[in-house]
Amino acid sequence: MEYFSGHISKLIEELSNLPGIGPKTAGRLAFHILDMPAEQVESLANALTDAKNNVKFCNKCYTLTDSEVCPICASKERDQKTIMVVETTRDMAAYENVGEYKGVYHVLHGAINPMLGIGQNDIRLKELFERLKDDVDEVIIATNSSVEGEATAMYISKVVKPIGIKVSRIASGVPVGGDLECVDNVTLLRALNGRVSI
Ligand code: ZN
Repeated sequence: MEYFSGHISKLIEELSNLPGIGPKTAGRLAFHILDMPAEQVESLANALTDAKNNVKFCNKCYTLTDSEVCPICASKERDQKTIMVVETTRDMAAYENVGEYKGVYHVLHGAINPMLGIGQNDIRLKELFERLKDDVDEVIIATNSSVEGEATAMYISKVVKPIGIKVSRIASGVPVGGDLECVDNVTLLRALNGRVSI
């Protein structure tokens, strides 16, 4: 027997498709949304579709942004010759929160993962190597310290080193398999400052 109306069931189903949201939380959120004033629900729905429709990849670093080139790539204050390679836009945000890094980024949108069939062509590696044709002093590899992150780091280093560009890896202050976003600022700063050439 269906307890809920089809609309409520559908809402719960959609919410429970989100990461980290089980059926119980989805139910709680669904009823919370139904209790919200209509204008607030509309504003939430618009924020979802507006973000999806308007956010795109930066032409240079492939982070998610509203413009063709993100504010960091467009900034004259940033050292465009130092590129930090991260797996996700969230990792980039974690480093930006520390506020010490003055270079630019490259967002791979994943890591090489043979188990899941994700190869070097499935993440933004080609685009990274393309950027190295410009004047670049250093590539800092800040992929996660998971097996996939390490495999990706090794691959990048193998390609970049022969070009004669300095390659470094952030120090192992970041916990193995750790989501960069969950690591505190002091640890991230230590990892960045303690990076080693590879
Ligand atoms: Zn950018």
